Amino acid sequence: MPSTFTKTFDTPAYKGTVTIPLGLYINGEFVDPVEGGTIDVVNPATGKVVTSIAAGTKADIDIAAKAAKKAYKTSWGLKVPGAQRGKLMSKLAVLMEEHIAEFAALDALANGKAYNTAYGRDNKGAIAVMEYYAGWADKINGKTIETNENKLAYTRHEPIGVVGQIIPWNVPMFSLSLKIAPALATGNTIVLKPSELTPLSALLFCTLIEEAGFPPGVINIVNGYGPTAGQAISEHPLIEKVAFTGSTLTGRKIMEAAAKSNLKPVTLELGGKSPNIIFDDADLEQAVKWAIHGIYFNHGQNCSAGSRIFVQESIYEKFLDQFTENARAIKVGDPFSPDTYQGPQVSKTQFERIMGYITSGKNDGATVHLGGKQIGQEGYFIEPTIFTECQPDMKIVREEIFGPVACVMKFSTEDEVVEQANDTSYGLAASVFTKDIDRAIRVAHALEAGTAWINCANQTEISMPFGGFKQSGIGRELSEYALENYTNVKAVHVNIGIRL
Ligand code: NAD
Repeated sequence: MPSTFTKTFDTPAYKGTVTIPLGLYINGEFVDPVEGGTIDVVNPATGKVVTSIAAGTKADIDIAAKAAKKAYKTSWGLKVPGAQRGKLMSKLAVLMEEHIAEFAALDALANGKAYNTAYGRDNKGAIAVMEYYAGWADKINGKTIETNENKLAYTRHEPIGVVGQIIPWNVPMFSLSLKIAPALATGNTIVLKPSELTPLSALLFCTLIEEAGFPPGVINIVNGYGPTAGQAISEHPLIEKVAFTGSTLTGRKIMEAAAKSNLKPVTLELGGKSPNIIFDDADLEQAVKWAIHGIYFNHGQNCSAGSRIFVQESIYEKFLDQFTENARAIKVGDPFSPDTYQGPQVSKTQFERIMGYITSGKNDGATVHLGGKQIGQEGYFIEPTIFTECQPDMKIVREEIFGPVACVMKFSTEDEVVEQANDTSYGLAASVFTKDIDRAIRVAHALEAGTAWINCANQTEISMPFGGFKQSGIGRELSEYALENYTNVKAVHVNIGIRL
Protein backbone atom coordinates (compact mmCIF):
# COMPACT_ATOMS: atom_id res chain seq x y z
CA MET A 1 0.00 0.00 0.00
CA PRO A 2 1.69 3.27 -1.10
CA SER A 3 2.32 5.92 1.53
CA THR A 4 1.05 9.48 1.46
CA PHE A 5 2.63 12.93 1.67
CA THR A 6 1.09 15.73 3.72
CA LYS A 7 2.27 19.30 3.58
CA THR A 8 0.96 22.25 5.53
CA PHE A 9 1.53 25.56 3.77
CA ASP A 10 1.54 28.69 5.88
CA THR A 11 2.65 31.24 3.32
CA PRO A 12 1.48 34.71 2.31
CA ALA A 13 0.05 33.35 -0.94
CA TYR A 14 -1.52 30.12 0.36
CA LYS A 15 -2.47 28.65 3.72
CA GLY A 16 -3.73 25.09 3.88
CA THR A 17 -2.87 21.41 4.14
CA VAL A 18 -2.55 19.09 1.16
CA THR A 19 -2.34 15.29 1.28
CA ILE A 20 -1.52 13.15 -1.74
CA PRO A 21 -0.81 9.44 -2.25
CA LEU A 22 2.70 8.71 -3.54
CA GLY A 23 2.10 5.56 -5.57
CA LEU A 24 1.46 4.88 -9.23
CA TYR A 25 -2.14 5.32 -10.39
CA ILE A 26 -2.96 2.22 -12.42
CA ASN A 27 -6.35 0.69 -13.15
CA GLY A 28 -8.16 3.02 -10.78
CA GLU A 29 -5.96 2.52 -7.73
CA PHE A 30 -2.70 3.63 -6.21
CA VAL A 31 -0.12 0.86 -6.28
CA ASP A 32 3.52 0.34 -5.42
CA PRO A 33 5.94 0.01 -8.33
CA VAL A 34 7.01 -3.52 -9.27
CA GLU A 35 10.68 -2.73 -8.75
CA GLY A 36 10.05 -0.49 -5.72
CA GLY A 37 12.03 2.54 -6.95
CA THR A 38 11.58 6.11 -5.77
CA ILE A 39 12.28 9.64 -7.00
CA ASP A 40 13.20 12.49 -4.68
CA VAL A 41 11.17 15.63 -5.28
CA VAL A 42 13.20 18.77 -4.56
CA ASN A 43 12.03 22.27 -3.70
CA PRO A 44 14.07 24.43 -6.10
CA ALA A 45 13.73 27.46 -3.83
CA THR A 46 15.82 25.68 -1.18
CA GLY A 47 17.45 22.73 -2.94
CA LYS A 48 16.03 20.45 -0.22
CA VAL A 49 14.13 17.19 -0.73
CA VAL A 50 10.40 17.58 -0.09
CA THR A 51 9.33 13.96 -0.40
CA SER A 52 9.99 10.79 -2.41
CA ILE A 53 7.43 9.43 -4.84
CA ALA A 54 7.09 5.97 -6.37
CA ALA A 55 9.01 5.50 -9.63
CA GLY A 56 7.53 3.20 -12.23
CA THR A 57 9.59 1.24 -14.74
CA LYS A 58 8.91 -0.90 -17.81
CA ALA A 59 7.03 -3.51 -15.75
CA ASP A 60 4.59 -0.89 -14.43
CA ILE A 61 4.05 0.63 -17.86
CA ASP A 62 3.20 -2.87 -19.09
CA ILE A 63 0.57 -3.32 -16.36
CA ALA A 64 -0.83 0.16 -17.07
CA ALA A 65 -0.96 -0.46 -20.84
CA LYS A 66 -2.85 -3.74 -20.30
CA ALA A 67 -5.32 -2.04 -17.95
CA ALA A 68 -5.82 0.75 -20.49
CA LYS A 69 -6.38 -1.77 -23.29
CA LYS A 70 -8.98 -3.62 -21.23
CA ALA A 71 -10.76 -0.38 -20.37
CA TYR A 72 -10.71 0.67 -24.02
CA LYS A 73 -12.41 -2.55 -25.06
CA THR A 74 -14.94 -2.73 -22.25
CA SER A 75 -15.77 0.57 -20.59
CA TRP A 76 -14.58 3.43 -22.79
CA GLY A 77 -13.85 4.08 -26.45
CA LEU A 78 -16.79 3.39 -28.72
CA LYS A 79 -18.65 1.66 -25.85
CA VAL A 80 -19.38 5.04 -24.28
CA PRO A 81 -21.32 7.76 -26.14
CA GLY A 82 -19.49 11.05 -26.56
CA ALA A 83 -22.04 12.91 -24.44
CA GLN A 84 -21.28 10.60 -21.52
CA ARG A 85 -17.52 11.05 -21.96
CA GLY A 86 -18.05 14.81 -21.98
CA LYS A 87 -20.13 14.64 -18.82
CA LEU A 88 -17.37 12.88 -16.89
CA MET A 89 -14.79 15.34 -18.20
CA SER A 90 -16.96 18.26 -17.08
CA LYS A 91 -17.22 16.69 -13.63
CA LEU A 92 -13.45 16.30 -13.56
CA ALA A 93 -13.09 20.01 -14.43
CA VAL A 94 -15.40 20.92 -11.54
CA LEU A 95 -13.31 18.82 -9.13
CA MET A 96 -10.10 20.40 -10.43
CA GLU A 97 -11.61 23.83 -9.77
CA GLU A 98 -12.52 22.81 -6.21
CA HIS A 99 -8.88 21.89 -5.56
CA ILE A 100 -7.21 24.63 -7.59
CA ALA A 101 -5.41 26.21 -4.64
CA GLU A 102 -3.87 22.85 -3.69
CA PHE A 103 -2.78 22.20 -7.27
CA ALA A 104 -1.15 25.63 -7.42
CA ALA A 105 0.62 25.11 -4.09
CA LEU A 106 2.05 21.73 -5.18
CA ASP A 107 3.26 23.16 -8.50
CA ALA A 108 4.82 26.20 -6.82
CA LEU A 109 6.53 23.86 -4.35
CA ALA A 110 8.05 21.41 -6.86
CA ASN A 111 8.51 23.73 -9.84
CA GLY A 112 9.43 26.96 -8.06
CA LYS A 113 7.05 29.05 -10.14
CA ALA A 114 5.15 31.88 -8.51
CA TYR A 115 2.02 30.56 -6.80
CA ASN A 116 -0.06 33.17 -8.61
CA THR A 117 1.20 31.98 -11.99
CA ALA A 118 0.60 28.36 -11.01
CA TYR A 119 -2.93 29.27 -9.94
CA GLY A 120 -3.88 31.57 -12.79
CA ARG A 121 -2.14 30.71 -16.01
CA ASP A 122 -1.41 27.01 -15.36
CA ASN A 123 -4.28 25.60 -13.34
CA LYS A 124 -7.07 27.90 -14.49
CA GLY A 125 -5.77 27.11 -17.96
CA ALA A 126 -5.80 23.36 -17.27
CA ILE A 127 -9.42 23.52 -16.13
CA ALA A 128 -10.46 25.58 -19.14
CA VAL A 129 -8.82 23.02 -21.44
CA MET A 130 -10.70 20.18 -19.76
CA GLU A 131 -13.98 22.09 -20.12
CA TYR A 132 -13.27 22.95 -23.75
CA TYR A 133 -12.65 19.34 -24.79
CA ALA A 134 -15.58 18.10 -22.69
CA GLY A 135 -17.65 20.17 -25.11
CA TRP A 136 -16.06 18.43 -28.10
CA ALA A 137 -16.71 14.89 -26.88
CA ASP A 138 -20.12 14.59 -28.57
CA LYS A 139 -19.06 16.47 -31.69
CA ILE A 140 -16.49 14.04 -33.10
CA ASN A 141 -18.05 13.64 -36.51
CA GLY A 142 -17.02 12.17 -39.82
CA LYS A 143 -18.34 13.30 -43.19
CA THR A 144 -20.71 11.95 -45.78
CA ILE A 145 -18.90 12.20 -49.11
CA GLU A 146 -20.72 12.36 -52.41
CA THR A 147 -19.17 9.85 -54.87
CA ASN A 148 -21.84 8.41 -57.17
CA GLU A 149 -25.44 7.35 -56.94
CA ASN A 150 -24.52 3.68 -56.41
CA LYS A 151 -22.58 4.29 -53.26
CA LEU A 152 -23.04 5.69 -49.80
CA ALA A 153 -19.60 6.86 -48.65
CA TYR A 154 -18.77 8.25 -45.27
CA THR A 155 -15.94 8.62 -42.79
CA ARG A 156 -15.78 7.84 -39.08
CA HIS A 157 -13.27 9.44 -36.70
CA GLU A 158 -12.58 6.51 -34.43
CA PRO A 159 -10.41 6.59 -31.31
CA ILE A 160 -6.91 5.17 -31.71
CA GLY A 161 -7.01 2.97 -28.59
CA VAL A 162 -4.40 3.20 -25.86
CA VAL A 163 -2.36 6.37 -26.12
CA GLY A 164 0.89 7.14 -24.31
CA GLN A 165 1.62 10.68 -23.17
CA ILE A 166 4.85 12.12 -21.77
CA ILE A 167 5.00 15.66 -20.39
CA PRO A 168 7.62 18.14 -19.09
CA TRP A 169 7.82 20.21 -15.91
CA ASN A 170 7.43 23.84 -16.99
CA VAL A 171 3.61 24.01 -16.88
CA PRO A 172 2.77 20.71 -15.15
CA MET A 173 -1.02 20.74 -14.91
CA PHE A 174 -1.56 22.70 -18.12
CA SER A 175 0.54 20.15 -20.02
CA LEU A 176 -1.32 17.28 -18.37
CA SER A 177 -4.69 18.69 -19.37
CA LEU A 178 -3.51 19.49 -22.91
CA LYS A 179 -2.68 15.83 -23.34
CA ILE A 180 -5.45 14.09 -21.42
CA ALA A 181 -8.48 16.17 -22.46
CA PRO A 182 -8.48 15.69 -26.27
CA ALA A 183 -7.54 12.03 -25.85
CA LEU A 184 -10.50 11.39 -23.54
CA ALA A 185 -12.92 13.43 -25.65
CA THR A 186 -12.15 11.26 -28.66
CA GLY A 187 -12.52 8.02 -26.68
CA ASN A 188 -8.97 6.87 -26.07
CA THR A 189 -7.56 5.41 -22.89
CA ILE A 190 -4.35 6.80 -21.47
CA VAL A 191 -1.00 5.96 -19.94
CA LEU A 192 0.63 9.27 -18.97
CA LYS A 193 4.01 9.95 -17.43
CA PRO A 194 4.53 13.33 -15.71
CA SER A 195 7.97 14.88 -15.42
CA GLU A 196 10.05 13.37 -12.63
CA LEU A 197 10.72 16.96 -11.45
CA THR A 198 7.09 17.98 -10.91
CA PRO A 199 5.02 14.88 -10.17
CA LEU A 200 3.03 16.13 -7.16
CA SER A 201 0.10 17.90 -8.82
CA ALA A 202 -0.48 14.90 -11.11
CA LEU A 203 -0.84 12.72 -8.00
CA LEU A 204 -3.50 15.06 -6.63
CA PHE A 205 -5.23 14.89 -10.03
CA CYS A 206 -5.31 11.06 -9.74
CA THR A 207 -7.37 11.33 -6.54
CA LEU A 208 -10.17 13.01 -8.53
CA ILE A 209 -10.46 10.57 -11.43
CA GLU A 210 -12.63 7.96 -9.71
CA GLU A 211 -14.79 10.61 -8.05
CA ALA A 212 -15.48 12.11 -11.49
CA GLY A 213 -16.81 8.68 -12.51
CA PHE A 214 -14.14 7.36 -14.89
CA PRO A 215 -14.01 3.56 -15.06
CA PRO A 216 -10.74 1.99 -13.86
CA GLY A 217 -8.01 1.87 -16.49
CA VAL A 218 -9.24 4.81 -18.59
CA ILE A 219 -6.63 7.20 -17.15
CA ASN A 220 -3.40 5.69 -15.79
CA ILE A 221 -0.68 7.97 -14.46
CA VAL A 222 2.72 6.42 -13.92
CA ASN A 223 5.52 8.54 -12.52
CA GLY A 224 9.05 7.55 -13.41
CA TYR A 225 12.23 8.58 -15.16
CA GLY A 226 12.40 9.26 -18.87
CA PRO A 227 14.87 6.60 -20.02
CA THR A 228 12.94 3.88 -18.11
CA ALA A 229 9.21 4.62 -17.82
CA GLY A 230 9.18 7.15 -20.70
CA GLN A 231 11.09 4.85 -23.03
CA ALA A 232 8.77 1.97 -22.09
CA ILE A 233 5.75 4.05 -23.16
CA SER A 234 7.38 4.91 -26.50
CA GLU A 235 8.13 1.29 -27.31
CA HIS A 236 5.16 -0.57 -25.80
CA PRO A 237 3.33 -2.66 -28.42
CA LEU A 238 -0.14 -2.11 -26.91
CA ILE A 239 0.30 1.66 -26.90
CA GLU A 240 -0.81 2.77 -30.34
CA LYS A 241 0.18 6.42 -30.27
CA VAL A 242 2.57 8.58 -28.30
CA ALA A 243 2.19 12.30 -27.64
CA PHE A 244 5.19 14.07 -26.18
CA THR A 245 6.09 17.54 -24.97
CA GLY A 246 9.68 18.23 -24.05
CA SER A 247 13.09 18.78 -25.56
CA THR A 248 13.96 18.15 -29.19
CA LEU A 249 16.66 15.72 -28.07
CA THR A 250 14.14 13.52 -26.24
CA GLY A 251 11.62 13.93 -29.06
CA ARG A 252 14.10 12.27 -31.41
CA LYS A 253 14.51 9.31 -29.03
CA ILE A 254 10.76 8.91 -28.74
CA MET A 255 10.29 8.95 -32.48
CA GLU A 256 13.03 6.36 -32.87
CA ALA A 257 11.53 4.07 -30.21
CA ALA A 258 8.08 4.47 -31.76
CA ALA A 259 9.46 3.60 -35.20
CA LYS A 260 11.39 0.59 -33.95
CA SER A 261 8.47 -0.88 -32.00
CA ASN A 262 4.98 -0.82 -33.52
CA LEU A 263 5.41 2.27 -35.75
CA LYS A 264 3.03 4.19 -33.51
CA PRO A 265 2.30 7.71 -34.73
CA VAL A 266 3.91 10.49 -32.72
CA THR A 267 3.00 14.06 -31.97
CA LEU A 268 5.85 16.16 -30.67
CA GLU A 269 5.75 19.58 -28.99
CA LEU A 270 9.41 20.49 -28.74
CA GLY A 271 11.78 23.34 -28.07
CA GLY A 272 12.11 26.79 -29.57
CA LYS A 273 14.36 29.81 -30.06
CA SER A 274 11.68 32.29 -30.95
CA PRO A 275 12.46 35.62 -32.60
CA ASN A 276 10.87 38.84 -31.44
CA ILE A 277 11.17 41.61 -34.05
CA ILE A 278 10.69 45.23 -33.10
CA PHE A 279 10.45 47.79 -35.90
CA ASP A 280 11.12 51.50 -35.32
CA ASP A 281 7.45 52.49 -35.73
CA ALA A 282 6.26 50.16 -32.93
CA ASP A 283 4.58 51.44 -29.77
CA LEU A 284 7.84 51.28 -27.85
CA GLU A 285 6.43 51.11 -24.34
CA GLN A 286 4.13 48.23 -25.29
CA ALA A 287 6.86 46.46 -27.28
CA VAL A 288 9.16 46.59 -24.24
CA LYS A 289 6.49 45.20 -21.91
CA TRP A 290 5.60 42.37 -24.30
CA ALA A 291 9.28 41.60 -24.87
CA ILE A 292 9.74 41.29 -21.09
CA HIS A 293 6.74 38.98 -20.85
CA GLY A 294 7.95 37.13 -23.94
CA ILE A 295 11.29 36.10 -22.47
CA TYR A 296 11.00 36.31 -18.68
CA PHE A 297 7.54 34.88 -18.03
CA ASN A 298 7.80 31.57 -16.13
CA HIS A 299 11.53 32.31 -15.55
CA GLY A 300 12.25 31.91 -19.24
CA GLN A 301 11.11 28.30 -19.04
CA ASN A 302 8.75 28.59 -21.99
CA CYS A 303 9.04 26.68 -25.21
CA SER A 304 7.84 29.80 -27.03
CA ALA A 305 10.07 32.26 -25.13
CA GLY A 306 11.07 35.23 -27.30
CA SER A 307 14.76 34.72 -26.58
CA ARG A 308 16.14 36.42 -29.73
CA ILE A 309 15.08 40.05 -29.71
CA PHE A 310 15.81 41.93 -32.95
CA VAL A 311 15.49 45.71 -32.67
CA GLN A 312 15.66 48.14 -35.60
CA GLU A 313 18.86 50.20 -35.31
CA SER A 314 17.26 53.65 -35.02
CA ILE A 315 15.46 52.68 -31.78
CA TYR A 316 17.99 50.14 -30.50
CA GLU A 317 19.48 52.25 -27.70
CA LYS A 318 16.12 53.55 -26.56
CA PHE A 319 14.62 50.06 -26.55
CA LEU A 320 17.62 48.61 -24.72
CA ASP A 321 17.43 51.26 -22.00
CA GLN A 322 13.74 50.67 -21.34
CA PHE A 323 14.01 46.89 -21.65
CA THR A 324 16.90 46.87 -19.18
CA GLU A 325 15.02 49.06 -16.74
CA ASN A 326 12.00 46.71 -16.87
CA ALA A 327 14.15 43.57 -16.57
CA ARG A 328 15.95 45.05 -13.56
CA ALA A 329 12.58 45.68 -11.88
CA ILE A 330 11.49 42.02 -12.10
CA LYS A 331 10.71 40.65 -8.64
CA VAL A 332 12.72 37.49 -8.17
CA GLY A 333 12.11 35.56 -4.99
CA ASP A 334 10.00 33.19 -2.93
CA PRO A 335 7.34 31.52 -5.12
CA PHE A 336 4.84 31.90 -2.28
CA SER A 337 5.28 35.65 -1.98
CA PRO A 338 2.32 37.37 -3.70
CA ASP A 339 4.42 39.87 -5.68
CA THR A 340 6.99 37.37 -7.01
CA TYR A 341 7.22 37.26 -10.80
CA GLN A 342 10.25 35.00 -11.09
CA GLY A 343 11.07 32.12 -8.76
CA PRO A 344 14.03 29.74 -8.94
CA GLN A 345 14.85 27.66 -12.01
CA VAL A 346 13.32 24.22 -11.71
CA SER A 347 16.38 22.13 -10.79
CA LYS A 348 20.11 22.11 -10.15
CA THR A 349 20.64 20.59 -13.59
CA GLN A 350 18.69 23.36 -15.31
CA PHE A 351 20.41 25.99 -13.16
CA GLU A 352 23.84 24.68 -14.16
CA ARG A 353 22.80 24.41 -17.80
CA ILE A 354 21.70 28.05 -17.89
CA MET A 355 24.82 29.26 -16.07
CA GLY A 356 26.83 27.23 -18.60
CA TYR A 357 25.14 29.13 -21.45
CA ILE A 358 25.91 32.44 -19.74
CA THR A 359 29.58 31.45 -19.50
CA SER A 360 29.59 30.38 -23.13
CA GLY A 361 28.06 33.71 -24.21
CA LYS A 362 30.83 35.58 -22.37
CA ASN A 363 33.54 33.33 -23.79
CA ASP A 364 32.18 33.81 -27.31
CA GLY A 365 32.47 37.60 -26.97
CA ALA A 366 28.91 38.67 -26.20
CA THR A 367 28.41 41.34 -23.54
CA VAL A 368 26.47 40.71 -20.35
CA HIS A 369 24.46 43.91 -20.33
CA LEU A 370 22.42 42.92 -17.27
CA GLY A 371 22.47 40.09 -14.74
CA GLY A 372 24.33 36.89 -15.50
CA LYS A 373 24.76 35.75 -11.90
CA GLN A 374 23.15 33.49 -9.33
CA ILE A 375 21.00 35.24 -6.72
CA GLY A 376 21.81 34.20 -3.14
CA GLN A 377 23.38 30.92 -2.11
CA GLU A 378 20.28 28.83 -1.53
CA GLY A 379 18.10 27.42 -4.31
CA TYR A 380 18.42 27.94 -8.05
CA PHE A 381 17.74 31.65 -8.59
CA ILE A 382 19.26 33.45 -11.58
CA GLU A 383 19.26 37.17 -12.34
CA PRO A 384 17.20 38.25 -15.35
CA THR A 385 19.97 38.43 -17.92
CA ILE A 386 20.47 40.45 -21.12
CA PHE A 387 23.20 39.76 -23.66
CA THR A 388 24.16 42.34 -26.29
CA GLU A 389 26.83 42.20 -29.03
CA CYS A 390 25.56 38.76 -30.02
CA GLN A 391 26.57 37.12 -33.30
CA PRO A 392 24.36 34.67 -35.23
CA ASP A 393 26.73 31.73 -34.76
CA MET A 394 27.01 31.99 -30.97
CA LYS A 395 25.59 29.13 -28.89
CA ILE A 396 23.44 31.57 -26.90
CA VAL A 397 21.80 32.68 -30.15
CA ARG A 398 21.40 29.23 -31.69
CA GLU A 399 20.42 26.95 -28.77
CA GLU A 400 17.41 26.95 -26.50
CA ILE A 401 18.54 28.15 -23.05
CA PHE A 402 15.18 27.72 -21.29
CA GLY A 403 16.05 30.32 -18.68
CA PRO A 404 15.80 34.10 -18.05
CA VAL A 405 18.35 35.02 -20.71
CA ALA A 406 17.62 37.38 -23.63
CA CYS A 407 19.86 38.13 -26.62
CA VAL A 408 19.19 41.64 -27.95
CA MET A 409 20.42 42.30 -31.51
CA LYS A 410 20.29 45.16 -34.01
CA PHE A 411 18.91 45.05 -37.56
CA SER A 412 18.44 47.54 -40.35
CA THR A 413 16.01 46.18 -42.99
CA GLU A 414 12.92 43.99 -43.09
CA ASP A 415 14.50 41.48 -45.49
CA GLU A 416 17.59 41.16 -43.33
CA VAL A 417 15.65 40.58 -40.10
CA VAL A 418 13.31 37.99 -41.63
CA GLU A 419 16.34 36.06 -42.84
CA GLN A 420 18.02 36.23 -39.43
CA ALA A 421 14.81 35.33 -37.60
CA ASN A 422 14.38 32.24 -39.79
CA ASP A 423 18.02 31.21 -39.41
CA THR A 424 17.26 28.55 -36.80
CA SER A 425 16.44 24.87 -36.70
CA TYR A 426 13.40 25.70 -34.55
CA GLY A 427 10.04 27.11 -35.65
CA LEU A 428 7.68 27.31 -32.71
CA ALA A 429 6.66 30.96 -32.46
CA ALA A 430 7.63 34.47 -33.53
CA SER A 431 6.58 38.03 -32.75
CA VAL A 432 6.57 41.22 -34.76
CA PHE A 433 5.96 44.73 -33.44
CA THR A 434 5.03 47.51 -35.87
CA LYS A 435 2.15 49.89 -36.51
CA ASP A 436 2.38 49.30 -40.26
CA ILE A 437 -0.37 46.75 -40.89
CA ASP A 438 0.98 45.69 -44.30
CA ARG A 439 4.40 45.02 -42.88
CA ALA A 440 2.99 43.29 -39.80
CA ILE A 441 1.09 40.76 -41.87
CA ARG A 442 3.83 40.39 -44.50
CA VAL A 443 6.43 39.60 -41.83
CA ALA A 444 4.11 37.35 -39.82
CA HIS A 445 3.55 35.30 -42.99
CA ALA A 446 7.26 35.19 -43.85
CA LEU A 447 8.32 33.89 -40.43
CA GLU A 448 8.80 30.12 -40.29
CA ALA A 449 6.86 29.39 -37.12
CA GLY A 450 3.73 27.58 -35.99
CA THR A 451 2.50 30.71 -34.21
CA ALA A 452 3.03 34.32 -35.29
CA TRP A 453 2.15 37.11 -32.87
CA ILE A 454 1.57 40.66 -34.09
CA ASN A 455 2.08 43.31 -31.39
CA CYS A 456 2.01 40.72 -28.60
CA ALA A 457 3.97 37.69 -27.38
CA ASN A 458 3.49 34.41 -25.51
CA GLN A 459 -0.26 34.30 -26.13
CA THR A 460 -2.29 31.12 -26.39
CA GLU A 461 -5.98 30.62 -26.95
CA ILE A 462 -7.63 27.30 -26.26
CA SER A 463 -9.46 27.55 -29.57
CA MET A 464 -6.27 28.30 -31.55
CA PRO A 465 -3.76 25.60 -32.55
CA PHE A 466 -0.26 25.57 -31.08
CA GLY A 467 2.73 23.65 -32.38
CA GLY A 468 5.95 23.85 -34.30
CA PHE A 469 7.42 24.14 -37.77
CA LYS A 470 10.83 22.55 -38.41
CA GLN A 471 12.41 20.89 -35.35
CA SER A 472 9.91 22.41 -32.94
CA GLY A 473 7.49 19.60 -33.46
CA ILE A 474 4.96 17.52 -35.30
CA GLY A 475 1.21 18.02 -34.90
CA ARG A 476 -0.82 20.66 -33.11
CA GLU A 477 -2.18 20.96 -29.60
CA LEU A 478 -5.15 23.02 -28.42
CA SER A 479 -8.24 23.78 -30.53
CA GLU A 480 -10.11 21.46 -32.86
CA TYR A 481 -6.79 20.58 -34.52
CA ALA A 482 -5.65 18.54 -31.49
CA LEU A 483 -8.52 16.13 -31.99
CA GLU A 484 -6.82 14.90 -35.16
CA ASN A 485 -3.95 13.59 -33.04
CA TYR A 486 -6.26 11.16 -31.32
CA THR A 487 -8.49 9.76 -34.05
CA ASN A 488 -8.13 7.31 -36.89
CA VAL A 489 -10.19 8.15 -39.94
CA LYS A 490 -12.06 5.20 -41.35
CA ALA A 491 -13.55 5.40 -44.87
CA VAL A 492 -16.73 3.33 -45.17
CA HIS A 493 -17.95 2.41 -48.68
CA VAL A 494 -21.54 1.10 -48.79
CA ASN A 495 -22.57 -0.48 -52.06
CA ILE A 496 -26.13 0.52 -52.87
CA GLY A 497 -26.17 -0.39 -56.56
CA ILE A 498 -22.82 -1.40 -58.05
CA ARG A 499 -23.27 -4.83 -59.61
CA LEU A 500 -20.46 -7.09 -60.84
P1 NAD B 1 12.81 16.59 -21.45
O1 NAD B 1 12.82 16.21 -22.88
O2 NAD B 1 14.06 16.42 -20.68
O3 NAD B 1 11.72 15.74 -20.65
C1 NAD B 1 10.36 15.76 -20.99
C2 NAD B 1 9.73 14.46 -20.57
O4 NAD B 1 10.34 13.41 -21.31
C3 NAD B 1 9.93 14.11 -19.10
O5 NAD B 1 8.75 13.52 -18.61
C4 NAD B 1 11.05 13.10 -19.14
O6 NAD B 1 11.03 12.20 -18.06
C5 NAD B 1 10.75 12.38 -20.43
N1 NAD B 1 11.89 11.68 -21.05
C6 NAD B 1 13.22 11.97 -20.91
N2 NAD B 1 13.96 11.07 -21.62
C7 NAD B 1 13.08 10.23 -22.21
C8 NAD B 1 13.22 9.11 -23.08
N3 NAD B 1 14.41 8.67 -23.47
N4 NAD B 1 12.10 8.49 -23.52
C9 NAD B 1 10.88 8.93 -23.14
N5 NAD B 1 10.68 9.96 -22.31
C10 NAD B 1 11.77 10.62 -21.85
O7 NAD B 1 12.29 18.07 -21.39
P2 NAD B 1 12.08 18.95 -20.09
O8 NAD B 1 13.41 19.43 -19.64
O9 NAD B 1 11.19 18.26 -19.12
O10 NAD B 1 11.24 20.18 -20.70
C11 NAD B 1 11.83 21.24 -21.31
C12 NAD B 1 11.69 21.14 -22.82
O11 NAD B 1 10.30 21.03 -23.17
C13 NAD B 1 12.17 22.37 -23.53
O12 NAD B 1 12.94 22.02 -24.64
C14 NAD B 1 10.88 23.05 -23.98
O13 NAD B 1 11.02 23.88 -25.09
C15 NAD B 1 10.00 21.90 -24.24
N6 NAD B 1 8.57 22.29 -24.20
C16 NAD B 1 7.89 22.38 -25.37
C17 NAD B 1 6.56 22.78 -25.37
C18 NAD B 1 5.78 22.90 -26.65
O14 NAD B 1 4.56 23.02 -26.57
N7 NAD B 1 6.40 22.89 -27.81
C19 NAD B 1 5.92 23.07 -24.16
C20 NAD B 1 6.64 22.96 -22.99
C21 NAD B 1 7.98 22.55 -23.02
